[in-house]
Parts: sequence; C-alpha cells; structure tokens
Amino acid sequence: MAWFKKTRKPMAPPDKASRVPEGLYVKCPGCSELIYNKDLAANLSVCVKCAHHFRLSAAERLRSLFDGPWEEYDSSLVSTDPLSFTDTKPYKDRLRTSIAASGMKDAVVTATGYLGGVETVIAAMEYSFIGGSMGVVVGEKITRAIERAVDRRAPIIIVSCSGGARMMEGALSLMQMAKTAAALARLDRAGLPFISVLTDPTTGGVTASFAMLGDLNIAEPKALIGFAGPRVIEQTIRQKLPEGFQRSEFLVEHGMLDMVVDRRELKSTITRALQFMGCRAAAAAPAAPAQG
Ligand SMILES: [Zn+2]
Repeated sequence: MAWFKKTRKPMAPPDKASRVPEGLYVKCPGCSELIYNKDLAANLSVCVKCAHHFRLSAAERLRSLFDGPWEEYDSSLVSTDPLSFTDTKPYKDRLRTSIAASGMKDAVVTATGYLGGVETVIAAMEYSFIGGSMGVVVGEKITRAIERAVDRRAPIIIVSCSGGARMMEGALSLMQMAKTAAALARLDRAGLPFISVLTDPTTGGVTASFAMLGDLNIAEPKALIGFAGPRVIEQTIRQKLPEGFQRSEFLVEHGMLDMVVDRRELKSTITRALQFMGCRAAAAAPAAPAQG
C-alpha cells in the first residue's frame, strides 16, 4: 500500500549556469546525458544512449500499443470518497487536484482497439494520479474491462504502474484485489488470454492481485516490482537484501516473471504472443493513423 513512493521526476532541476531552455531537454537518470525531448518521444521515452525507460502516461502507453484510434470506456467514473478520509489533507482535495492536473477521473484508462490487427482490450494505469493507486474506481474499471474482453471474445492487456491499493479507500480498495482476480478467473474459463505488463513501479495490492495473474507476465527493464518495499522487508527479516532485489531481471531469474522486454520490442512481442495464443487478426482492422 505504499502508493506514496516518490515520483521520479522526468526533469532534473536546471543547473545554475545552464542556458538550455527548460522543457527542451531531459537529463537521463540512467546515464546523465541530456536528451532532446523530441528524440526521447520518438524513441517511446527510452533513452537512446543507455536504454533507460522513462515512465509513460496512460495515454502514451495506449498510443504505443494500439495500431490506431481506440475507444475509451467508463472515463466518467469518479470516487465518492466513501470513508470521508483525511490524512495530511482531505482525500476529496487530493482527488480534485489530481483530476485537474491529469484531466482524468482516476488512475486507469480502459479502452478497446486493435493491436497487431487483433481486437484487444487494454487497461493502462496512470502513475501521476495518486501514485497509480487502486481504489474502487480503478478496480471497477479494470473489472469492467475484463468483462468487456469476455463479451467480445477478445484478449486483455493490463499495463500496471502503481504503488498498490489506495489507502484512502481502506478495505474497499483491498476488495478490488479479489474482484479483479475473480473477473480474471472468468476470463480464464472463457479461454481468453490475459497479458500482464509490469512497469516501474508495480507494487503492493496491484502486484498481489491482477498484475501477477497474467497468462504471460512481461516486465519492462529494471522496473521495481514487489509487494512491500525493500526497506520494510529488511527491517522485518533483519537481513540485507541481495543486489537488484525486486527488479525485473532478478525476478525473471527467480521465476516470478516470464520475460523482460524492452519497450521498443513490446508491441511486436505482445503481437507474437497473442498469435501464439490463438488470437486472429480481424479481417478489416482499421489502418488509421495513431491517435494524437
Ligand atoms: Zn540514458
């Protein structure tokens, strides 16, 4: 439930003597090189020098996966603040700020479209919205997306980017773990594929529910994936954790994930996997240009 992990800022604070216009370049946290923003965008936000994967927004994620335009669902669902929760500030205010900043009503976008010519449902989580945390709305939208996949006999892909369950909705957030997992069981009984894509970070109740339940669990390179954070584990077991613990590559080595895939190879890998799982490309898949 550590949704409040610090967001990695895409923009390093400008050096005192820097005359580089702000917003034109990004400093890569992987190799410290300055990268031209347009080059980065053209490369799916992967550093051209060191392949560091910058975080994508939900919209960028959909654009990187769908062949063309997509149809979004349930975009008006909004949390009712069922517990009237207040921590350092009222949850209502937090929601209002996030909605104004992101233009989204909650931390996931669910949509249907075509991926590699196959009609596919995709749910992409938005980390900038309260740490991509899963409350009632996220759980409901993901459940509906899975049910839509069952209705349409389509595969579903869920791209996780989340700190876990949303503590401001307490036990109601935790119930979403069971709800989404039960919906995935129905998808499984219908014989339809679920590909889970785990990106940096995927932790807490999201890892403990749908994110690890894919027929194929794919992670982006060096993503932090785990349940509790490393510090909490170290304090509990009083042992030092091994190097690279809870990162994608370590988890593949230890059998927790199926593969680590570079974002630039992700769409082709998913397309191949869907074909392998028996999904057929629609006869008349639209070849419209990507949605902007
Ligand atoms: Zn780099």
